[in-house]
Amino acid sequence: MSRARRRLSGLTARTVVITSLVALMAFCILLLIGQAFGRLHDQVERLTRSDLERLMSSVRLAQQTESLVSLGLILVQSENHGDRRAALVELTDRFRWIGKLTEPLLSGSTDAEFVAKVRGAGRQLEDNVAELDRLLRRRIDGAADAADLAAIRQRSLENREIAGTLSVLMGYDAASVRSELSAQGRRLQEDAALQRRNLAVFAALLLAAVILSGLYFEVHVVRRIQRMRQALSRGDVDPQDLRVVGRDEIVELAETMRGYVERIQAQEARMQKAHEELAFLAEHDPLTGLANRRHFAAAAQRLLARGAQPLCLAIVDVDHFKRVNDTHGHEVGDRALVHVAAHASSGLRADDILARFGGEEFVALLPVRTLDDAQRVCDALRARIEGAPMMLGAGRPLSLTVSIGLTVIPVPRGDALDDPEQLEQLIQQAMRRADASLYAAKADGRNLVRLATAES
Ligand code: GH3
Ligand code: MG
Ligand code: MG
Repeated sequence: MSRARRRLSGLTARTVVITSLVALMAFCILLLIGQAFGRLHDQVERLTRSDLERLMSSVRLAQQTESLVSLGLILVQSENHGDRRAALVELTDRFRWIGKLTEPLLSGSTDAEFVAKVRGAGRQLEDNVAELDRLLRRRIDGAADAADLAAIRQRSLENREIAGTLSVLMGYDAASVRSELSAQGRRLQEDAALQRRNLAVFAALLLAAVILSGLYFEVHVVRRIQRMRQALSRGDVDPQDLRVVGRDEIVELAETMRGYVERIQAQEARMQKAHEELAFLAEHDPLTGLANRRHFAAAAQRLLARGAQPLCLAIVDVDHFKRVNDTHGHEVGDRALVHVAAHASSGLRADDILARFGGEEFVALLPVRTLDDAQRVCDALRARIEGAPMMLGAGRPLSLTVSIGLTVIPVPRGDALDDPEQLEQLIQQAMRRADASLYAAKADGRNLVRLATAES
């Protein structure tokens, strides 16, 4: 999968999506809260402003109309003009008030019958007040007769009735406003409960979204990273354990780490191989692959220190090797050395040691039971080489023979087994004896095995 596509479906994109969703939900909740409060505020405002105002107006109007009754009595029963005039002024004032209070009350009412009745009573009151004003002026001017006085009484009584009617109407209106108020109060409570439920649902959804986001990041991010850490903290890291399923940045990280681990492991393997090669080269002859002098010395010490069996030490020297070089060249000479080494070692057992000591000279150290055994093994080695000529190009054989000088090292006694110096001395003495035997083999005509006794 391409990097760009991975990025689109990757952790960054998912983080942006999840964060945006949670933020959007939080925003919706805030919006909902704002709207709910706005609606509640409007309802309370309407209740307090208009409905309560209307209720107050009804109550005030009832009070005003009731004062009309007492003013009517004053008009009828007062003894002097001053009181009557004051009562009339008061009456006119109350009437204006009634007018002022009636208009907003009526404009807010939807009950047509109520409106018609209040307007009718208002008009009647207006007529009565105007007529009373006229009649009282006549009385104050002294022009009133008995009929005028009866009319004043009559109008005052009518005012009383109208006041009673208005009072009843206001009581009726106040009652309807009260019931409307309590209905609105109930609606307000229901609306508030609904908003509370909605908010609880949204809050639960938001909480669930937050928990799910947390779980998602725990499973898809934290655990995968922990698995990678565990795979890396093992002693022997297996790059396959660093494989992560998915298509996001963690997969990229895992792949980068896997590549890194594989590179490190390949480098380690190369270094290990180089180390092994160096270790091998330090102890082996690069041409034939046999042990070198150093390795031979250490291995011979170990074999001797076991003290299990006598050891046969044989020096094997290729006969007339200079001629091979001179006749066929140095390269063929090298191949001849490899050929001799291969055939010499092919008959050896696991415990036997064969080393190249330099040039065309090899040394073998073989655990044997008897001197005869030693001689038999060495002669077999000599015969193997004699019987296997090396093939030059075009099927031309090159006969190779070796001369062998051998001696036997008896099992060391006592504390010599644990003393490397004494063991080394035994080996060096045997080398000298074997060398002398080799010299004898060469002198006797080559392709021979000559034995030196321990005493010689
Ligand atoms: P003899 O039978 O008496 O042992 O005679 P020889 O020719 O084998 O012995 P000599 O010591 O005279 O010659 C040994 C030769 O081996 C001389 C040297 O050039 C050759 N030689 C030594 N090391 C190597 C090598 O690594 N490769 C090759 N091709 N020749 C080597
Ligand atoms: Mg030689
Ligand atoms: Mg030699």
